Amino acid sequence: MNNHVTVLEIDANAVLHNVNYFKQKLQPTTKILAVVKAFGYGSEAIEIAKLVQNEVDYFAVAYSNEGIALREAGIDTPILVLHPQISNIKDIVTHRLEPNLYNFKILEAFLQYANDVPLMNYPIHIKFNTGLNRLGFWHTDIPNIIARLKQSNNVIVQSLFSHLAASEDVNEQEFTVNQINNFAYIVKQVYEHLGYEPMIHILNTSGVVNYPQAQFDMVRLGIGLYGFGNTPNETANLKNTHALKSIISQIHLIQPGETVGYNRAFVASRLTKSATIPVGHADGISRRLGNKNGFVIVNNKPAPIIGNVCMDMIMVDVTDIDCNEGDEVILFNHQQHIEYMAHKCETIPYEILTALSQRIKRLVKR
Ligand SMILES: *Cc1c(COP(=O)(O)O)cnc(C)c1O
Repeated sequence: MNNHVTVLEIDANAVLHNVNYFKQKLQPTTKILAVVKAFGYGSEAIEIAKLVQNEVDYFAVAYSNEGIALREAGIDTPILVLHPQISNIKDIVTHRLEPNLYNFKILEAFLQYANDVPLMNYPIHIKFNTGLNRLGFWHTDIPNIIARLKQSNNVIVQSLFSHLAASEDVNEQEFTVNQINNFAYIVKQVYEHLGYEPMIHILNTSGVVNYPQAQFDMVRLGIGLYGFGNTPNETANLKNTHALKSIISQIHLIQPGETVGYNRAFVASRLTKSATIPVGHADGISRRLGNKNGFVIVNNKPAPIIGNVCMDMIMVDVTDIDCNEGDEVILFNHQQHIEYMAHKCETIPYEILTALSQRIKRLVKR
């Protein structure tokens, strides 16, 4: 028996279904980059990578240590590091990771390192800012980038890319189309002067849904792999991948007027049966879900969280549910439940998933 009773189950078939759902939306020649940053959106990056490596062409991680973990697990697929730092360059090359070079400081540092080693035709990626204003060169940097790249045969540009700021927001269509057009214009200029034509990509999950005409050579799928299409219709076509489950540790009978939990936040107005569950805000169950803002499922019935969410526990009202100590509790096992939690926490499913602490055991179900 394993002693972690709170488990995050990752549904392998759901992940595969989701990749293939997007695949059928794409041109047969469009490559897929699977984004597995932040532990695969809170799931299990290595397992996800192993699962989809034959379905996709690329992986992306945010930081170099995430890429190193994939390499050390034997993943051989090309891996784009979206947010490398100068201090990571040696590790990146040692592990055959491909850096996103987003400003002159890191471009120069990488070219210097590549020249010192020396490296031959090492794959790099150049990111352009088209409106997100987060990471990336400006279009006005193109002449200097080209001049610098032409002096070096230590590197080869594997791709040019950009990132959309509001691909899920239909009210921002004009802005998004502008981003796409600006990117196409940047690409044209680079192609004219670089002497070869690297791959190009700009779409994330909701970009694929809303702007399929801009799929170019590759798309970067993140949240879609994990079951969310950022619209109810698309999400309905995807399968839920993350299910958080636990058990009832203890049941208490609370007399009217008695209270439950810290600050005595729940006051029983009737004879109340409360169940204590070993998962709390340290596990990623936000304190905002306390005081009946959130619920769990016990024996197919919703049980509201009563009182404040503790660090390691929550208490739920099971007065009207036939249940016993040791029974299974479902914190969530459906996208709608995750979206409801996100709504109650004034956030988005991305944050609910990635907030799930590493303390929770991950179990990949095949
Ligand atoms: C995280 C990330 C993605 C994935 O976005 P989703 O909305 O999860 O599909 C794609 N590209 C970049 C640059 C990212 O940082």
